[in-house]
Parts: sequence; C-alpha cells; structure tokens
Amino acid sequence: MAQVAISKVAKAFGTVKVLHEVSVDIADGQFVVLVGPSGCGKSTLLRMVAGLETVSSGTIAIGDRVVNHLPPAKRDIAMVFQNYALYPHKTVEQNMAFALKLRKTDPAVVAERVKRAADILDLNPYLKRYPRQLSGGQRQRVAMGRAIVRNPQVFLFDEPLSNLDAKLRVQMRTEIKELHQRLKTTTIYVTHDQIEAMTMADKIVVMRDGRIEQVGAPLELFDRPVNLFVAGFIGSPS
Ligand code: ADP
Ligand code: MG
Repeated sequence: MAQVAISKVAKAFGTVKVLHEVSVDIADGQFVVLVGPSGCGKSTLLRMVAGLETVSSGTIAIGDRVVNHLPPAKRDIAMVFQNYALYPHKTVEQNMAFALKLRKTDPAVVAERVKRAADILDLNPYLKRYPRQLSGGQRQRVAMGRAIVRNPQVFLFDEPLSNLDAKLRVQMRTEIKELHQRLKTTTIYVTHDQIEAMTMADKIVVMRDGRIEQVGAPLELFDRPVNLFVAGFIGSPS
C-alpha cells in the first residue's frame, strides 16, 4: 500500500488546458473515486498517475517517491480499464501470468500469485478457457486478476464497469469493494456514475472542466454540497 500525492498537477494538450492545477491526497489503503461528467479530465489524471501521459506541471508522488519521470513499469501500480484488453489467444491463466512472465518473475512465484488471484476471484473453473468463452463479468474478473497478481502498491480503475449490463454492474461493484476490503490496496477509481461513487468511495473527488469542485466522504457531499453542480451531480440518479 502507498500514499499517493497529486500536487498542483496541470495538463495541456498543445495549447488546450484540460487540467488546471489539481491536488488530491490519497492515504494508504484508501478507496478514492474521481467522478464527473465525460470530458472533465478524469482519465487524463489517472493516466498521469499511471505514467501513460506526461505531466505538464506539478508533481505526482507514490509513497515517498516523486514519479513524474518514472516509466509505468517502475511505478508499482496496476490499471484496470473498461475494455479489459485481454489477450484473445491466451487462456485465463496465461492472461494473468503474462505480465509477471514479462518481468522474468520466478515461475514458482507466478504460479502461486495466479492461484491466489484465481481463488480470490473465483476463477478456478475457468483457468483453461479463452476470453471469448467467458461472460462479461468473468472477463472483468480476469482483468482484475491480471492487476492483483502484480501485488501493486496502487490499483487504478478507469470506468471498469461501463461495458457491463446494469445487474452485473451492481454485482461487480460489490465484488470490487470486497476485494478492496480484503487486500486494502490503495485505489483510485474513475467513473462518471454517481451511484458507483456514492456506494464505493471512502472519499469522492468531484471534477468539472479540469478542476476539482469538491472533495469529501460520500455523505459529506450529499449533506453539504458546496455548489449546485455538486448537488445536482451527486443527488441525481444516473
Ligand atoms: P474523462 O475521462 O473525464 O471523460 P478525459 O481525461 O478523457 O476525460 O479528457 C479530458 C479532455 O482532454 C477532453 O476534452 C478530451 O477531449 C481531451 N483529451 C484527452 N486526451 C487527449 C489527447 N491525447 N489529445 C488531445 N486532447 C485530449
Ligand atoms: Mg475517461
């Protein structure tokens, strides 16, 4: 687990500013949700924490290291995306093992980590199957398995449930929370769905147009929104 400190981080693509000096502190083991309408800069911020996007100004620290110039592989994070990006020609087991093999991890360690992830996610019956032979929920679990096996300091989720139907979304929400309660890995979770934010977060960061409108615990935002945007966004059903 690690603390993540995002300090006055800004991002411009060419001359277009998409994030304006955003600061967020995430404590060890905390589950923080970045929420806000499409285009407000959630993915860009998450991708900067992951190292997939450069930082225009400001600093991002993970643990006691400033990581601005570290490549993604050296940041000790694992990211889960909405489109899973599983390898179609690899089995469930191979999909989970692949990132560790790339890093030349000891095969005994790979086997043990894959087994642990399969146990946690109830994937044991499906280890020899290919992604096309799985349901949407099972694929999402494999994508999480690939993140878990790496034992990261920080999990990053970018709208991991948005391709699932409503019923499965509710179920996976619960599973992700249970996973967090079990592993206590520091998590940054991006969504445009306020119900996901309200039910999953220890702390919610509400964003609009590249700025942070309010940060607080779910009930705090619900009871004491700082403005009409937050009130409307948090209070309205998706
Ligand atoms: P969100 O995830 O909240 O929907 P994004 O972080 O994806 O928002 O995008 C924020 C803004 O940055 C949007 O206006 C988007 O069009 C713009 N943007 C994102 N990536 C790029 C890029 N690679 N080049 C130019 N503009 C981008
Ligand atoms: Mg996005």
